[in-house]
Amino acid sequence: MIVFDIFTLFPEMFFSPLHSSLLKKAFDKNIIEVRLHNIRDYAEGKHRVTDDTPYGGGGGMVMKVEPVAKALDAVISDRSATLVVLLSPQGEVFTQTKAEEFAGLHHIALVCGHYEGIDERIRHYLVDREISIGDYVLTGGELPAMILVDAVARLIPGFTGNAESVRNDSHTTGLLEGPHYTKPRVYNGWEVPDVLISGHEKRIREWRRRESLRRTLERRPELLSRIDLTEEDDHILAALKGERGE
Ligand code: SAH
Repeated sequence: MIVFDIFTLFPEMFFSPLHSSLLKKAFDKNIIEVRLHNIRDYAEGKHRVTDDTPYGGGGGMVMKVEPVAKALDAVISDRSATLVVLLSPQGEVFTQTKAEEFAGLHHIALVCGHYEGIDERIRHYLVDREISIGDYVLTGGELPAMILVDAVARLIPGFTGNAESVRNDSHTTGLLEGPHYTKPRVYNGWEVPDVLISGHEKRIREWRRRESLRRTLERRPELLSRIDLTEEDDHILAALKGERGE
């Protein structure tokens, strides 16, 4: 069971994604718990202001440090047992390896920025890690937080009910996963590869490995240098490169 405490100015953004599909199952099975905290509730004054103009001038609004600090203080009882993550386009890029690392934790707090950005003191004094979901800039950390929760939740044992499908996922093996097919066997003249219907387990396994290597070679060749390949894989790759005239 992992508990996610999410700190956001827009908790309503999470309602639909968290209540549909597989994530709903994860709640029902008590695999994850997501607690939403509105940063505005921890802001002072009648207007509960959470952002202000930047010191030194320049455009845009900056998220204030006090409401975030107070929210984290109020919610997190054991700071040393909690990983506090700030979603930020300047953070370490999120990968499957990081998802696996986070799936081993029990308590993760996610801080979603908004506006032009956040007061630097949030980054400096309040968080342990900064995570980016990719080299592009979004309006807020809410969608990145949902992506992180989704990727981590599906790795927790018991989540999908099919551990094998998770084991074979693209990026889990270090390779891209090969193609899948389901019924019908022929649609519109488009056929399913014979080997998958052969019932011959060893040949199917070999075909899947070859197609996984082929796809990785075609689309993401740089991934191949990051993993340990077997001698058999090297033979297959040499043959695939031969087919491509390399
Ligand atoms: N001006 C800032 C970007 C602000 S975007 C800068 O250049 O760094 C507003 C908020 O959206 C950020 O505080 C962050 O929480 C979130 N965000 C935007 N893009 C993101 C990304 N690629 N990954 C994670 N969070 C992101």
